[in-house]
Amino acid sequence: MALVEATAEGLLCAAGGFYIDPTGSVTRAVVTHAHADHARPGSVEYVCAESSLEVLRARLGDEVTLVGLGYGERRRFGDVVLSLHPAGHVLGSAQVRIEHEREGVWVVSGDYKRERDPTCAPFEALPCDTFVSEATFGLPVYSWPDPTEVVRELFAAWRAERAHPTLVFCYAFGKAQRILAHLAELTDEPVLLHGAMEKLTAAYRRSGVTLAKTEPVSDSASRSDYAGRLVLCPPSAHRSPWMKRFKSPQTAFASGWMAVRGQKTRRGYEHGFVLSDHADWPSLVRTVEQTGAKRVLVTHGSSEALARYLREARGLDAVPLGQLYEGDEGEP
Ligand SMILES: [Zn+2]
Ligand SMILES: [Zn+2]
Repeated sequence: MALVEATAEGLLCAAGGFYIDPTGSVTRAVVTHAHADHARPGSVEYVCAESSLEVLRARLGDEVTLVGLGYGERRRFGDVVLSLHPAGHVLGSAQVRIEHEREGVWVVSGDYKRERDPTCAPFEALPCDTFVSEATFGLPVYSWPDPTEVVRELFAAWRAERAHPTLVFCYAFGKAQRILAHLAELTDEPVLLHGAMEKLTAAYRRSGVTLAKTEPVSDSASRSDYAGRLVLCPPSAHRSPWMKRFKSPQTAFASGWMAVRGQKTRRGYEHGFVLSDHADWPSLVRTVEQTGAKRVLVTHGSSEALARYLREARGLDAVPLGQLYEGDEGEP
């Protein structure tokens, strides 16, 4: 028996009577984090990490029923004991640990990373029998530089350009706030925010995360105001009418995809900063090792490649679990 199985509705734990990050509307959804491909509206009840309550409400609306669990807090559902543990991906992200008398311990990682991120609790490696891992960047070519250094470079590129604005494109939930948290360690100067980022940034602040000062872009009156300013905006704003207000901006994209040669130029950015909220190849392999799991089920992205490596080089029972999610950092 599989304690967790892939169904049309998403990952089902029948013994516990819940789905994990369901794609459809279900009675009980255990949600690993608030990215749109994991937390969808329409379910009756959402079980989530306590630290994700503010961001989940910002995403799903105030009327949803949320049950927040502290990290490590054990709760019985049907025949299983469930607990949530830090995944280090974004604020409130969680791995789902499920314990069953006969089936042992299963851990569903959700999205995760191992690098330092001042906006969320660090990933915790959990011993288990079966580990369900993501593999968004599951190819050896992906190996991240130190994120503190990357944001230092971003800061230096901004500081070097005083005559024109600097536009950094990045995902509105997670990446933007991570950059702001790193910048808070470097400067008191306020950063301009695209409107699409305000609600979630406010939810981070309500959750107690320290971020650099921000101002909405719309409050800046004239073009000359933008000279020398740093602006964070979502990738969808690139080459949009919204962007026309900025005179000769220098542009940059902050993403794991910037690790691939030629991506920056192909996408039309002057700078590329390699900054990902997902595990790189060395972290994926190291994490699987640390869990001690004999069976690994791989979702997201390059699941075939990672599963094959784990079988052939590590002798594990590893198979892809199908493409369940689009991936928040999926190829746009
Ligand atoms: Zn995610
Ligand atoms: Zn995802």
